[in-house]
Amino acid sequence: MPLTDKELSKVWGLVKIALNKEFSQKQYKAWIEKSTKLLDFEGNQVVVAVPNNIVLKWLSTNAKFKIAKALSELLGTDVLVDFKISPASFKRIKKEENQDLVSLFDPTAKYSEQVKKALEEAQINPKYSFENFIVGASSQLAYAAAVAVAESLGDVYNPLFIYGPVGVGKTHLMQAVAHKAISKDPTKKVYYCSSETFLNEMVDSIRKGKAIDFRNQYRKLDLLLIDDIQFISNWQSTQDELFHTFNTLYNAGKQIIFVSDRPPAEINNLADRLKSRFEGGMVVDILPPDFETRVAILRKYNETKHYKLSDEAIEKIALLVTDNVRSLIGAYNKAHSYVKLTKSDLKPEDIERMLGLDKASLKRRLTPKKIVSVVASFFGVLEKDVMSSKRSASVVLPRQLSMYLIRTLLHLSLEETARALNRKDHTTVLHAVSKIEKLMQQDSNFSAEVLRIKGKLVN
Ligand code: ADP
Ligand code: MG
Repeated sequence: MPLTDKELSKVWGLVKIALNKEFSQKQYKAWIEKSTKLLDFEGNQVVVAVPNNIVLKWLSTNAKFKIAKALSELLGTDVLVDFKISPASFKRIKKEENQDLVSLFDPTAKYSEQVKKALEEAQINPKYSFENFIVGASSQLAYAAAVAVAESLGDVYNPLFIYGPVGVGKTHLMQAVAHKAISKDPTKKVYYCSSETFLNEMVDSIRKGKAIDFRNQYRKLDLLLIDDIQFISNWQSTQDELFHTFNTLYNAGKQIIFVSDRPPAEINNLADRLKSRFEGGMVVDILPPDFETRVAILRKYNETKHYKLSDEAIEKIALLVTDNVRSLIGAYNKAHSYVKLTKSDLKPEDIERMLGLDKASLKRRLTPKKIVSVVASFFGVLEKDVMSSKRSASVVLPRQLSMYLIRTLLHLSLEETARALNRKDHTTVLHAVSKIEKLMQQDSNFSAEVLRIKGKLVN
């Protein structure tokens, strides 16, 4: 039976995890991360889609063997790898992602009482599901690993160790594994706790002479999630007990997931044997989301809140709030309450004011020159040609887009914008802006590209 698109992309996610270790970060990002997709898989013949000939050539020379090896290991059978140029596959990815956003629902609505109760007992926030997690480049690997673990507890990556800065979705992703496991089988024994709770319970049981009970209680679990494990450095003396509990579970084939703000090697005062246990499974990181992902997350929130904010307002928030998802959602909620209370629209300028972020800070980072240079390189034309008076079609669009971006991102006046591009007449700017706006309305591919360019400018 042929695999579904979802299954293909899941398999590919796992192959990418393996490939990520085989290449430098630069190579992985440039050639593999967003420019490969598993297209087809029949018998032992695998077809990998690539967007163009350049990627095809590079992969054929540098990665074909490694891809075949990773797939063979994953599937337990030898495979032959072929590449196919298929730009459409990459457009389709975008659409699928967008559809995912449209079908937002309350994940618990369809659950039985038994599932709801099991989620509650396991201390899982029902909102933290895979469906509600927007995957971006910076969370792709962690997401793929989490999905793989949820599919077969205790089998693939044990323990799974997820680390990253605050507010990037670590707890969400970790709980999503539990969410999935419980919704598939509510009789699974699952428990989520912070490292602090875990250690307190442990110390308590030791004090009461009930350490055995404590261990037995944990031994019954199919899945144990311990959040913020970095705090273990504060409890030197109890690391032994954690080690034993870990071993008991691990040897019984039970799944364990740890979350931390740093990799195992950087946790202070961590006993060597615990460190090597943590490192013995799969260690993945999550970083703050890029601009496109921030927009996707906000759009999803906007949907659950019945589209109170305009797309323009959403992009503005995504532009200004860059550090983590928690503050992104905080900013959204602030804007949302404003609209609800005042029953009036929020203009992008209002958002800047509301978030206490002035245009000046954006301006400091972004200049008209940078905009022209990023746009030119995106279209593969020379910056000086964009700045010149050449009228050839290949430079007219980049020029108009530069004007549009300078106007909308930097809020320069028409005259200033014209000057930034060596024009005297500011009506060309007016014309350019309305032309680009029209194009974006008519052509969703084009507006997706504009979004991508903006991403390059602000990240
Ligand atoms: P962390 O544990 O890394 O500090 P959390 O998992 O608590 O972060 O995430 C903070 C908030 O942001 C939560 O409400 C979570 O649902 C949301 N969030 C984080 N990442 C994503 C994402 N990729 N998609 C959707 N929501 C996210
Ligand atoms: Mg957390």
